[in-house]
Amino acid sequence: MHELSICQSMLKIVDSTMEQHEGAKLRKIFLDIGRGSTIEPVLLSEAFEVITAGGPYAGTELVINDIPISGRCRDCGRDFTYEELAVGCPNCGSTNIEITAGLELDIKALEVDD
Ligand SMILES: [Zn+2]
Repeated sequence: MHELSICQSMLKIVDSTMEQHEGAKLRKIFLDIGRGSTIEPVLLSEAFEVITAGGPYAGTELVINDIPISGRCRDCGRDFTYEELAVGCPNCGSTNIEITAGLELDIKALEVDD
């Protein structure tokens, strides 16, 4: 389950941010997760609960924003959005495409109580 290691690296980033807010309590972590990433949001939330249980981040809520996959076709120039990760342009079928969103895992914001 690679969500566990993703969670650990995410918490390292959170840690370094929280160090600048001494004494603050972390409430929420806002994440962008692309549908084309290999991350399962439910598993990530579960892993997060397991890792943070009993620690300073116990009870912190993960707020996950689901990002659809978008791309642009280099052949016909069409912009498109996929429901699922697909291989070709829905317009002309070309595989000469560029994925512009939907593969990311980004921490967008942290909500803390001072
Ligand atoms: Zn195309």
